[in-house]
Amino acid sequence: MKSVKQIDFYDREMETLDRVQLRAAQNEGLRRLLQTLAAIGFYREKFDEAGMDFESIHGLEDLKRVPFTTKAELAAEQQAHPPYGRLLSYPLLRYTYLHQTSGTTGQPLKCLDTREDWEAWMRCWGYVYRGAGVSADDMVFCAFSFGPYLSHWTAIDGARHIGALALSGGGLSSEQRLRMIIDNCCTVVVCTPTYALHLADAAERLGLDLRSSAVRTTIHAGEPGASVENVKRRIEQAWGATCFDHAGATEVGAWAFDCQAQSGAIHLNELDFIFEVIDSETGERVDEGTRGELVVSTLSRPGMPVLRYRTGDLVELTTEPCACGRTLARIRGGILGRADDMLILRGVNLYPSAIDNLLRALPAIIEYEVEIRRIAGLDDLLLKIETNEPESFANVKDAVLAAFRSQLNIRVSVEQAAEGTLPRYEFKARRYKRVAQ
Ligand SMILES: [Zn+2]
Repeated sequence: MKSVKQIDFYDREMETLDRVQLRAAQNEGLRRLLQTLAAIGFYREKFDEAGMDFESIHGLEDLKRVPFTTKAELAAEQQAHPPYGRLLSYPLLRYTYLHQTSGTTGQPLKCLDTREDWEAWMRCWGYVYRGAGVSADDMVFCAFSFGPYLSHWTAIDGARHIGALALSGGGLSSEQRLRMIIDNCCTVVVCTPTYALHLADAAERLGLDLRSSAVRTTIHAGEPGASVENVKRRIEQAWGATCFDHAGATEVGAWAFDCQAQSGAIHLNELDFIFEVIDSETGERVDEGTRGELVVSTLSRPGMPVLRYRTGDLVELTTEPCACGRTLARIRGGILGRADDMLILRGVNLYPSAIDNLLRALPAIIEYEVEIRRIAGLDDLLLKIETNEPESFANVKDAVLAAFRSQLNIRVSVEQAAEGTLPRYEFKARRYKRVAQ
């Protein structure tokens, strides 16, 4: 593996604030956020309905009395009051950026940002890049489609913000992207974990050696993969680079970032966001270290802020000090799963990331798809697997069945998928399909 630079910061003073000062800064930020929200129709109505007033919230402790906000609510608001809903703090004239979500789980959500919001996005990406040791010396390749998706534009603008030379990989085939990465001696590649594996596979077929390329660092989000041990290891081996995770959402921001301590836990950006972890069922806060759903409030996105937004992401928070020196809390294993994508297989609760971890340990597997069938009230899994050596599929099948049995204690069905038939994902992978019986 190529060497990683020394531990670096985007804003050392802020990233190493003691937690008492950090809490005070968050309380101050919350007061400003509430003032902004009081002028937004959607939130005024929400507070009215809950019989609350903005002045009654004095700090982080009071926040737990405030109703949550969900993506479904924001989408419904935009449908009821098109096109943007009563979600904006300022007249439209003041906004300079408009993006939308992919809408895979419903209507796309439109998100608007002012110049000030964009500056905050750049700062958040500053933490992501500097956390991964990326600097002005670097050449950053963004392997995205650059559609209406906010993360693609913030990733490339963020790279420029820290002074790096940023290359857009939009509108290109995988081969064109690989050649651009190699020809330009790019040192950093930003993409989803799935796409990093796909590029590695494509490189092998083309006879291109990524391990001897200049790529030293890969940065991933969009899926939990980069914090899933075997996915991370496989990306690192294929690229000869160090793989960094981060997390974000269009309607929230880039809210978590990895660091060079590579502790297996990624930092929460508590400077631009307030985080709570709740029990998805009861909505009550859970103790540090207990797995729960992450709830986020935005402190530095005044154009279209969110309050107690339920991300649906399951996390385990820790405030233990990190070897990198940052005092910001971390989440162990990154995003562990989604509150709504848990599978229940013969009494075993299972998240897709556990399946990903298991399958990615087997180097012969190139791509896979999971069909979930409901049989007698229980979920049953059929795995369709594509391998690099189709003729020796029986060995792979045996290994998969044995791994499921020994590691997860469940029985699954395995089927061979013909070479090149499973979709290759550039954006968020959608490998799970529910099938009606
Ligand atoms: Zn750290």
